[in-house]
Amino acid sequence: MDPLLLSSIPSWSSVVILVSFLSYLGIIGSILPGKIVHGATLSDDTRLCYRCNGLLSLLLLVTLLGIGVSRKLISPTVVADKGLELLSATFVFSFLVSLVLYTAGHQSKDRGSSLKPHITGNLIHDWWYGIQLNPNVMGVDLKFFFVRAGIMGWLLINLSVLAKSIQVGNMHRSMILYQLLSVLYILDYFFYEEYMTSTWDIIAERLGFMLVFGDLVWIPFTFSVQGWWLLGNKVELTKAAVVANCLSFLIGYRVFRGANKQKHVFKKNPKAHIWGKPPKVIGGKLLASGYWGVARHCNYLGDLLLALSLSLPCGASSIVPYFYPLYLLILLIWRERRDEARCAQKYKEDWKEYCKLVPWRILPYIY
Ligand code: NDP
Repeated sequence: MDPLLLSSIPSWSSVVILVSFLSYLGIIGSILPGKIVHGATLSDDTRLCYRCNGLLSLLLLVTLLGIGVSRKLISPTVVADKGLELLSATFVFSFLVSLVLYTAGHQSKDRGSSLKPHITGNLIHDWWYGIQLNPNVMGVDLKFFFVRAGIMGWLLINLSVLAKSIQVGNMHRSMILYQLLSVLYILDYFFYEEYMTSTWDIIAERLGFMLVFGDLVWIPFTFSVQGWWLLGNKVELTKAAVVANCLSFLIGYRVFRGANKQKHVFKKNPKAHIWGKPPKVIGGKLLASGYWGVARHCNYLGDLLLALSLSLPCGASSIVPYFYPLYLLILLIWRERRDEARCAQKYKEDWKEYCKLVPWRILPYIY
């Protein structure tokens, strides 16, 4: 059989890696302490609680893996060596999970996939009894869990790719830059994990194939394309290019984090000052100052700049490492349209007034 085809068949060892990783996250996520965050009020007027201990779980995992590697119990390149097998194992797993969710959703009273699948609460309880449990019940929220798994998986792939590049002797400036920027992005995600509780995926998306596949397969395996690509390609970066790359990352980060933070703070306290001034608010619910007064989704603009900065270390000789920013561009334009439709329906006249005041969707004067 073709060696490429052979290596893409899930092996038992890749299944063991995947199951161990997810079990670790499930168990550790429900045991380790973390800030308890009350999520946004959902469309059915309920609120869930989230335990934000992602950073602690990640640091513990990396420490345990470090010990495993130093004692020669684990190979640091295991993930990079089994890349395709792991990809197909994760794909099959995501498909099976989606199938279970589909069946459970079909039998639930809503006859659809769940907006708030809680492993110790709504998912099993709703499916079994067809009624709702106390929404404040603690447990593992599957949407929160899957996105956490995806981002951590991305870091594990990157670290293994880094180890591989050291092993094969092609660790160069571009690889170091890509690794450094992505680790900053990932650590930042977990540092501000509570902001995730007010994002579209958590408040508006139902858990089905798109979300499971997107979090478990898409995030770790496509966000790391640059690392895989740099493993086989050498890029000479000048110091000026490195500085420009870091600058675009910093600007992107400032806009991305600043916008998401402003909205999060505003939701908790609508009177909190934005950029040192009292906020401009429409209808008591919509923020129209700070980044939210520049464009209606400035956070998407920042994220796109960040995504581009993670690809720039790969130079301009191939389009392959630009897969992530290109796909993100399409995804965010599509999502912005969906979010816009949802907000127009929810906020009615207030949304119209907001659009009049802030006419730009993502990029001022362009879009
Ligand atoms: P947002 O964080 O922008 O959340 C949208 C929601 O915010 C709306 O549904 C509405 O919810 C509320 N809202 C919108 N405008 C206002 C306003 N002016 N004032 C107050 N509330 C407002 O969107 P996402 O969840 O899609 O994105 C969150 C972050 O995640 C972004 O930075 C995005 O770039 C990133 N992301 C990254 C992806 C990736 O693959 N890298 C994929 C998707 C997102 P409500 O009903 O609560 O008011």
